Amino acid sequence: MEYHKRGLFFMALWNMFLQWLYPPHCLFCQDLLKIGREAVLCSDCHNVFSYNDGAVCQKCGCNLYVSQIYCDRCEKADFVFEKGIAAFSYDKVRDGIAHFKLKGWKRDAKPFAHMMGDYLLTCYPEMAQQSDLIIPVPIHDKKQKKRGFNQSELLAVELAERIQKRCSAKNLKRIRETIPQSSLSAKERKENIKNAFALENPHEIQQKTILLIDDIFTTGTTINECARVLYENGAKAVFSFCLSVVEQ
Ligand SMILES: [Zn+2]
Ligand SMILES: [Zn+2]
Repeated sequence: MEYHKRGLFFMALWNMFLQWLYPPHCLFCQDLLKIGREAVLCSDCHNVFSYNDGAVCQKCGCNLYVSQIYCDRCEKADFVFEKGIAAFSYDKVRDGIAHFKLKGWKRDAKPFAHMMGDYLLTCYPEMAQQSDLIIPVPIHDKKQKKRGFNQSELLAVELAERIQKRCSAKNLKRIRETIPQSSLSAKERKENIKNAFALENPHEIQQKTILLIDDIFTTGTTINECARVLYENGAKAVFSFCLSVVEQ
C-alpha cells in the first residue's frame, strides 16, 4: 500500500474506533445513530426539522402568529441592541441543549454552530455581512471552571469559523458573580446583572458591528446588558444571535 493510502486507511480505522467508543447520537433527541453515517439528526427529528424562518419578533427572533413587529416580552423591554434572531424555538432543542450544556458534551457545539451558520447565511445574509466581530455572552470564571467550558463561547468560535468571521472570545468578561436570573422578577434581574460585564480591550470593538452569541434567549436581560456595555465602549451596532429562543 502506498504511504498516503495507508495513512487514509488508518485514519478511517481510527474514526471507526472513535465512533465505537463514543457512538454518534442525534443532536436533538440523543437517539443512537448508525455508525459511519454523516447525519447529525435521526430520521424522526430530520422530518420535523425547522428553523425559525417565518414571521418573527425583530428583537428576540421568536415566532409571531399575529401581525406585530415585536413580541409582548420585547415590546415591554426596551432593548438597546439593534435586532435579534434565534435559529430555533427552545422547545425544539431543549433536550439537545441540556445534553450539550448540562451533561458537558462539548462536541455538540460544532453541529449546533453549523446550523446557526446555515440559518444566518440563508435567512439573514445582510446581518452576516455587516458583522465585523463575533462575541459570546461570557460566564463567570468560577462557573466556567465548574462546568469546564462556556457553551456560548464554543458556539461563537465554531460559528466564526463556519461563516469566516473573527471571534473575540476573551474581551468581554463577566466580572461579578450573579444569582441565577430564573429565580428573580424582571426588576430584580436588571439589578442583578447591572455592571456584571466589562471589556478588557475596549479599543477592539470601537466602530465595530458585533454579533453577540448565546445559547438561549429567555428574558433578554443578560444579552441586553452585554449590548449596553458594548455600546458604551464605542460599538457601532450590536445584533443578538441565539441558538434558541423561549417562545412567548
Ligand atoms: Zn432525533
Ligand atoms: Zn421578542
